Amino acid sequence: MPPSEAQRAAAATPRSLAGLLPYLSPYRGRIALALVFLVLAALATLAFPVALKLLIDRGLVAADPGERVLALREHFLALFAVGAALGLFSAARFYMVTWLGERITADLRNAVYAHVVQQSPEFFEATQTGEVLSRLTTDTTVVQTVVGSSLSMGLRNSVMGAGALVALIVTNPYVMAQVLGILVLVVLPSLYFGQRVRKLSRASQDRVADSSAIAAEVLNAIPVVQGFVQERREAVRFADSTERAFDTARKRTRVRSLLVAFIITATFGTLLWGLYQGTQAVLAGQITAGHLGQTVVFVIILVSSVAVLAEVYGDLLRAAGATERLMELLATRSPVAEPAAPRPLPPVRPGHGAAVALSHVTFHYPSRPTQPALVDFSLVVRPGETVALVGPSGAGKSTVFQLLMRFYDTTRGRIEVDGVPVREASLAALRARIGLVPQDSTVFSTTALENIRYGRPDASDDEVRAAARAAFAHDFITALPEGYATYLGERGVRLSGGQRQRIAIARAMLKNPPLLLLDEATSALDAESERMVQAALEAAMKDRTTLVIAHRLATVLRADRIVVMEGGRIVDIGTHDELVARDGLYARLAAMQFDLEPAA
Ligand code: ADP
Repeated sequence: MPPSEAQRAAAATPRSLAGLLPYLSPYRGRIALALVFLVLAALATLAFPVALKLLIDRGLVAADPGERVLALREHFLALFAVGAALGLFSAARFYMVTWLGERITADLRNAVYAHVVQQSPEFFEATQTGEVLSRLTTDTTVVQTVVGSSLSMGLRNSVMGAGALVALIVTNPYVMAQVLGILVLVVLPSLYFGQRVRKLSRASQDRVADSSAIAAEVLNAIPVVQGFVQERREAVRFADSTERAFDTARKRTRVRSLLVAFIITATFGTLLWGLYQGTQAVLAGQITAGHLGQTVVFVIILVSSVAVLAEVYGDLLRAAGATERLMELLATRSPVAEPAAPRPLPPVRPGHGAAVALSHVTFHYPSRPTQPALVDFSLVVRPGETVALVGPSGAGKSTVFQLLMRFYDTTRGRIEVDGVPVREASLAALRARIGLVPQDSTVFSTTALENIRYGRPDASDDEVRAAARAAFAHDFITALPEGYATYLGERGVRLSGGQRQRIAIARAMLKNPPLLLLDEATSALDAESERMVQAALEAAMKDRTTLVIAHRLATVLRADRIVVMEGGRIVDIGTHDELVARDGLYARLAAMQFDLEPAA
C-alpha cells in the first residue's frame, strides 16, 4: 500500500535534500567558488565590529583634536574599505549562488521530463498530467529558492553566526554564557514549529497539484464542458480545490508567523539583555565604550543569523518535501522494462513486411485485474499479409495493437515480431519496426512539413513531400494558406478528420515500417474525403504487413483475412464472403456497420 500523505509528510527531513546531490556534483567548481565568496563576505561582515571598535577607542578618544580628525578619517576609510569588500563579495556570491539555483532547477526539470516521457501508459493512468506539470513547475521552483538563495543564506549566516560567537566568547566570556543560555531557549521551540511547518508545506504542495490536475483535465475537454454547459460547475469545482490549497497554505503561514513572532521577540530580548549588561560594565569601568559597541554589533550579527537560520530551516524543509516528491517521480520504473541484453531483430527485408505471431495471449489492463481484455488469443500473420480486426466495441482490437507496440506486457502467452519475442527486443528497435496510425491522429502545433517529418526526423523535405503525395495529402496541404509551412494543430489551422488521418498515414509512410497498425476512423467522412483516405490506406498497406482495425466495407474487402473478435477472443477467421456466408457474428456486424443485407 502506498504511504498516506501524512506519513510521507512526516518522513520529509532535510536529509531528503541529499537527493539533489547528483545534480549538484557536476558544478563542484562553481560551488567551491561560491563558498569562497560566501566566506569572504561573512568575514567582511565580521570585520565591521572590529573596525568600529578601533574607530571609537582610537579615533574618538584620541587626546589631541588635530590627531583625532586625522585618526577619524583613517578609521572611516578603513570602515569604507570593509563595506566595499562586503559589497563586492556579496555580489559575487549572489551571482554564483543564483546561477547554481537556476542551473540545477533547469537540470532537474529536464531530468524529470525526460523520465516521465519514457513511462508506459500505465503510469499516465495512475498519475494525472496536471500533477506531473505541477511537480515540474511548483516543486522545482521550491528547490530553486532553496539552492539559489536559502542555502547560501543559511551558510552565510552559519559562518557569520559562528564567527560572531567565537569573537564574543573571546571578548566577553561572562556575558556569552548568558546569551548562549537564552539562545537555547529560542532554538528549541523553533525546531518544534519547524516540524509543523514542514508537514503543512507538503500538504499545501499536494493541494496545489490537485487543483492543477483538475485544470489540466478540464482545459483538455473544453468542448465537452461547454457543450454540457458545465462551465460554472467546473469553475466551482476548481475554486473548491483552490480553496483547499489556500486553507492549507493559511495554516502553514499561521504556524510560520507564530514562529517569526517568537523569534523576533526572543531576539530583541536577548539583544537588550546583552546591551544592558554592557552598559553596566562600561559604567563600572570594566570595559571601554568601543568594546561595548563592538559587542553590541557582534550580538546583533549572532542573533540575526540565528533568526535567519530558523527561517532558512523552514525553507529547507519545504524544499525537502518538494525534492522528495521529485525523487519519487524519478524513481518510478516503467513496468515495461528494457531487456538487460536486448536480442537484435533480424534485418528488415524491404518490400516484404514483418512476421507477427501472438500465441495464447491473455492480458488484462493493470487497472482492471479482474476483467481480461484478451483471452487465449493466438494469431499468426505472414509477412506482407493484410489482416482486418473486426468486432464490437470493447472486443479487444486496440488491445492487440497496444501489446504489439509493447505499451503493456502480456499477462500470459507470447508475442513475436520477426521471430523475436517483444520482451526480448529493445523497445526502440521494436517500435522502429512498427508504424501506428491511430484512430484520432495527433497533429502537433507545428508546420505540416514538420508534422509529417515526425515519422522520420532525418527525412529531407523532398522525402516528406513524396510521403504526403503517396498518402493523398499533398493536394490539401498545398491548398493551405502557406502550403507545407502552414501551422497546424492547436495554434494553427484545424484539419478535418480525414485530413488528420492522411497526415498520420503520410507520417507512417515516411517511416516506412515493415509492420503497419492502422486504426481506421469510425467517424463518417464526406464522400470525397472517404475516397482519399481509402486511396491513402491502400497505398500505405502495399509491400508491408498490415493489421487494420476495420470500420469500412472497402477495407475488409481488401484484407487477406478478417479476424472476428468478441470479448477478447477470436470467434472466427475468414474472408468477407466466407464469413458472411457463415451467418455468424460477422454477418450481423457487417449488416449494421457496412449496410449489408444480412445473409438469408
Ligand atoms: P476495442 O478496441 O475492440 O473496442 P479495446 O481493446 O479498446 O477494445 O478494449 C478491450 C477491453 O479492455 C474493454 O473491456 C475495455 O474497456 C478495456 N480497456 C481498454 N483500454 C483499457 C485501459 N487503458 N485500462 C483498462 N481497461 C481498458
